[in-house]
Amino acid sequence: MKAVVIRQARPGRVFIGRLAKGGDLLGLLTSICGRENVTHGEVRAIGALTQARLGYYNQVAREYKEITVPSPCEIVSLVGNISLKDGRPFVHAHLAVAGATGRVLGGHLLEGCLVFAGEYVIRELEVSPLLERAYDEATGLALWR
Ligand code: ZN
Repeated sequence: MKAVVIRQARPGRVFIGRLAKGGDLLGLLTSICGRENVTHGEVRAIGALTQARLGYYNQVAREYKEITVPSPCEIVSLVGNISLKDGRPFVHAHLAVAGATGRVLGGHLLEGCLVFAGEYVIRELEVSPLLERAYDEATGLALWR
């Protein structure tokens, strides 16, 4: 079995801001990283969505299944990381959302989550050598190597 991937990282710049109403949550976070050239880091956000799309990775079928979530909903928590995939900043985030009852559902953040209001913090990390995602035979996922 191959050893785990490990890097030492130094804190870099910190970005804080508001996400535009109507925008795609994952697309907006990815575009901020691209514009500011954040290649590695962590991301957090809270807010509300008019539409949410979450995924659950079926480990046997090796594919994401979409989870049905209430819309509109609150973003209870978005946590994620930023690294490189195909040479470009790639945001991998998980999201916990709640509808009117407050019951929380969570999963992998998919494209198609539309922002009602959102506030984010992105913390850049300086990582060397770079963390790049590549297809992992054992899981079927694009993991760090
Ligand atoms: Zn995930």
